[in-house]
Amino acid sequence: MPYFIDIIIPIPLQKLFTYSITKAEAEFLKIGMRVSVPFGKSKIYTGIVARIHNNPPTTYEAKEIHQILDEGPIVNEKQLQLWQWIANYYMCTLGDVMRAALPSAFILESETIITKHKKLIDESILLDDEFLVYEALQHQSSLKIHDISNILDKKNVLPVIKRLIEKEVIAVEEEIYEKYKPKLVRYVKLHAQFASQSALQKLLEDLSRAPKQHQVVLTLFSISAKTKKPVKVADLSTESGASSSIIKSLIDKGVLEEYFIQTDRVQYSGDDNEDSKSLNDYQATALTEIKESFKDQSVVLLHGVTSSGKTEVYVKLIEDVLNKGQQVLYLLPEIALTAQLITRLQNYFGEQVAVFHSKYSSHERVEVWNHVLNNSAKAQIVLGARSSIFLPFNSLGLIIVDEEHEQSFKQFDPAPRYHARDTAVVLAHIHNSKVLLGSATPSLESYFNAKQNKYGFVEITKRFNDVLMPDVELVDIKDALKKKRMKGHFSDRLLEEMTETLREGHQIILFQNRRGFSPIVECHTCGHSPQCPNCDVSLTYHQYRDQLRCHYCGFVEIMPKTCKACGSPELDNKGFGTEQIEAEVKLLFPDYKVARMDLDTTRGKYGYEKIITALEQQEIDILVGTQMLTKGLDFRNVKLVGIMNADNMLNFPDFRAHERSFQLMLQVSGRAGRTEERGKVLIQTYNPHHNILQQVSTNNYIDMYNEQMNDRYNYKYPPIYKQIKITLKHKDFSRVDTASIWYAKSLRNVFGDNILGPESPPIARIRNQFLKNILVKIPKKQSLSKTKEAIIKINNSFLNVKDFRSVKVILNVDNF
Ligand code: ADP
Ligand code: ZN
Ligand code: ZN
Repeated sequence: MPYFIDIIIPIPLQKLFTYSITKAEAEFLKIGMRVSVPFGKSKIYTGIVARIHNNPPTTYEAKEIHQILDEGPIVNEKQLQLWQWIANYYMCTLGDVMRAALPSAFILESETIITKHKKLIDESILLDDEFLVYEALQHQSSLKIHDISNILDKKNVLPVIKRLIEKEVIAVEEEIYEKYKPKLVRYVKLHAQFASQSALQKLLEDLSRAPKQHQVVLTLFSISAKTKKPVKVADLSTESGASSSIIKSLIDKGVLEEYFIQTDRVQYSGDDNEDSKSLNDYQATALTEIKESFKDQSVVLLHGVTSSGKTEVYVKLIEDVLNKGQQVLYLLPEIALTAQLITRLQNYFGEQVAVFHSKYSSHERVEVWNHVLNNSAKAQIVLGARSSIFLPFNSLGLIIVDEEHEQSFKQFDPAPRYHARDTAVVLAHIHNSKVLLGSATPSLESYFNAKQNKYGFVEITKRFNDVLMPDVELVDIKDALKKKRMKGHFSDRLLEEMTETLREGHQIILFQNRRGFSPIVECHTCGHSPQCPNCDVSLTYHQYRDQLRCHYCGFVEIMPKTCKACGSPELDNKGFGTEQIEAEVKLLFPDYKVARMDLDTTRGKYGYEKIITALEQQEIDILVGTQMLTKGLDFRNVKLVGIMNADNMLNFPDFRAHERSFQLMLQVSGRAGRTEERGKVLIQTYNPHHNILQQVSTNNYIDMYNEQMNDRYNYKYPPIYKQIKITLKHKDFSRVDTASIWYAKSLRNVFGDNILGPESPPIARIRNQFLKNILVKIPKKQSLSKTKEAIIKINNSFLNVKDFRSVKVILNVDNF
């Protein structure tokens, strides 16, 4: 009987590819293992086994696989189930999902190179197949894995290679495995022969003539007595003051023994765990209600005002789940938040907390992956950004989605364009576990689901410690300008409050939703403003480097001295970003420390941590930042929050702009006065009567919800209708124009009025590609899967039109 496997390859193919395997391979292989396979004329890919069967493909002849890369599955069946759901729901391929789901170290990209080990070996220790490889290496300096396959005439050569490495016959110079190198730390201990009291006594006497060595041994004792943990060579050297050569001589003498432990990069160095806090009445009630709700709901929304102590409630739920021996996934919108939370959770749960996000290297991600796969004690709680839904959980008990309203849970580019919150609900379903969504400003989607009883619903309406919600004041800058009461971008009211706050020794956060110095540079004489050559946007001026930059494609040029159109030297700045605010604050408050937190200042792995820690340690008096500041951070001494300009958020051309402005402003306000003293928030605006601003100033979520839902009803927007956005891209405008008209017309034939567009988006060209959007609105009654089938059909005929083949089509389900 012939044997076949269907393979997922990390490229966007509509179907799985079938390869033929031998009977022995069929017996060895399991679903979720990696194999490397030839593809096309010369390519080799790492694929994941999705099915093992006996049916040859009908339209092509199955090729043989190259080799088997694992001895056991690295992806479990629950993950594959989730991948399949994502591919179907978000209309992408399994290959797209695989790319997003696996740390890149798992994906074979080049061939492994094997070389001879320098050591001389005793040939008699080699088994037959090992000897063949060894012999071949006497004639050739290196071999690739497929050469070895040929020599041995079998595909699964990895076990042989592994043994040869262990016997130090060969070395692997490779990309496949060694892309992932566990970090090893050197430890020492006293040799077992000195375990007895008398032997030890004798050793110390012998060493008395070598005082430095004597000291090392004594220090080793005192460190282990103190920490009761393995002693690192590095620590021993620092504490005893002995050089590493002295320690080495003790090792050579056989007094000390060295050994290595694989350490994980996210290290926890604290001691015993702290007990979790006892909850106040509101929290305790919420906890009981959540547990009650979980009895018949798999998802519960916790709407708790900022600083109500939601995190402490999560901690209680986590304790329960851990006690049952299950894993917890704690999703955060962005890594900006993790710094504070890691510490908080590690205080309670110590080493059980693992962190997983994109700023970690591939090595570090593989480590967490393996811990989760093995259900290791070190990854019982995974704290992570959206991609952590792809980890190989096997007994997930609870998923917490903190700040569930955050749009960054949705992946924008590339495919899979998944929403981690919604995917988490599916993941939980696969594991038969629970999801808690938490927010002070829930998304309309989740709140709507709660109202429809699709989700359970629990509220905390009071801040912890009965701290009052901050006092929000709207400042009319139109009026202030008229009365000449503005200094730069600061109203007199804001300056007064800032002065007062600083005098009392409190800290200030200033929020401006744009980075850079000014988003538009305009010639005073002819009105020309520098545009990005690749995108239809104005360039943003960054004063720090005296550059103009495009925030869409990364284009950079030196700020010109004169207008490029008319040569006039009079260039004006219009609008303002964080950089300009920072510069103004420094002039206005020269005696205080000012810092800035935005994409430009937080690059690098610990970029956020540094700024957040400095604020916590009160090394910063005034922090200027973008929405990064809004994400659930907990600062004790911040009393005043200033929102520099509410209007550009409110006027953003998007149906969610109002909802988002509300969330953003309420969240950033929530950073003020979190302990004891009531905080103050000043919002500067040209339009203080705007309903959203009124709702923010009275902390009225319900009014906001009702008003916005009304609009969503009237204009058929989510969550009332579902929607799929189809974006077409091409470097030639007329091509994409014709193509989008064709596409929209075909859709209209099926869906009638529920198709909007094609339309050019507000930024009609990005990276030299012209864009056109088409919106498919899907009433609740209409079958989602049938709708998608129809779209795929149209998409396929579209791709068959010769002229359209070069047009890129992006399908974005539940677009944000
Ligand atoms: P939220 O996540 O709702 O904004 P947090 O969980 O960050 O609120 O809590 C706000 C502050 O109150 C934190 O500093 C937290 O340590 C403190 N806090 C919350 N609950 C308790 C409690 N039960 N006992 C002591 N302190 C608490
Ligand atoms: Zn000009
Ligand atoms: Zn650009």
